[in-house]
Amino acid sequence: MQKKSNTDWRSMKWPASVTELHTHLGGSVPLYRLWEIAVEKGIRGIGSGYEEFIDILKIQDDRVRDLDTYLEVYDKIELIQSGPAAVRESILIAIHRAYRTGGMLHLGPSGEGGSPESLFRIGRLELRFNPLKRTGAVFLKGSHAGLYDADRVIKSACSAVEEVELAFRGKIQVGLIFIFGRDMTFEANMVLARKVAEWQEMTDKIIGLDLAGHESKNPLSEPQQLKEMAEVFRTAGTKLGRTIHVGETPHVNVDTFIKTVETLNPQRVAHPISAVRAWWESRDDRGLKLLAERDLVCELCVKSNLLTRAVKDIAEYGRVISTLDEFGISYTFSTDAPSLQVTSLAQELLLLLESGAASPEQILRALKTADENSFLPRINQS
Ligand SMILES: [Zn+2]
Repeated sequence: MQKKSNTDWRSMKWPASVTELHTHLGGSVPLYRLWEIAVEKGIRGIGSGYEEFIDILKIQDDRVRDLDTYLEVYDKIELIQSGPAAVRESILIAIHRAYRTGGMLHLGPSGEGGSPESLFRIGRLELRFNPLKRTGAVFLKGSHAGLYDADRVIKSACSAVEEVELAFRGKIQVGLIFIFGRDMTFEANMVLARKVAEWQEMTDKIIGLDLAGHESKNPLSEPQQLKEMAEVFRTAGTKLGRTIHVGETPHVNVDTFIKTVETLNPQRVAHPISAVRAWWESRDDRGLKLLAERDLVCELCVKSNLLTRAVKDIAEYGRVISTLDEFGISYTFSTDAPSLQVTSLAQELLLLLESGAASPEQILRALKTADENSFLPRINQS
């Protein structure tokens, strides 16, 4: 096992530009901007004023017990971000947020930039969201759902990315990952899959597919559940990159973890904690061996994993990282929901370093892995 030591991050050789692989649109718009959008749209149920709104939406340690409670705020945010205009605005803000504050060491209370000091800038960003959940439908029961047109939402998202890239003159490269929902019906996921199949022919801004949502609602442990999800991914096509959230909670045991990975065939997986725990708790290394054999990259989101209790504490996080290294499995670090957790990529990395959970070598290697395993096409950047 690798020996960890506290190292002064100031003496480390940080790259000028890094790749952020795992951020959700719902968690990437600073709270004060969400408030402005909510007021403008006349959204109901946003509390009795700004302070209460912040209190409702900020993901706080004393309120989140698991992934299900972590995801509660997303319903509200998805409504605020629903419709072509709000999606466009949210994407513009999310990209600016990443560029301006991703490398910052301190943030203000609502996620605004709090310090001019930056370790690096985010030069490549993968932003993920579920377009169907931006149509104004809370309960997606079938093919007919929502107030807004999903095609308009997708078009608006892709155009927003193009516009910001142009404005930044190549200083930030952005791609969208579309998420299928564990909490959506098969029919609703199929609607999205067909749209993805069509839209990927018309734009290069959609770079990947993902699966996310409550593992408790649909762990994919039943053959029928998995068969249906395989059909969804098959319909969306094989040209896009694939990453899936799998094994973040005990609802997905290592057998289900293995079957899900074998069936959906991703190149990357997010938070594969079940595979790590199976090894720790019962010396079952099948999940970890599968990750190693397939050369899958693990997307780790430190504060998010601690908030959902996927990982108990930062010391245990160090064990997760060491275990992945033992098995020769690659991993990356990301923020998941930087605005809701009021964090930056730089802060997450410093948390690992200062607690001794990861060494400078491990951190810098993870940044390189992110760069090399992005679904974004490689372009020459200055
Ligand atoms: Zn995530």
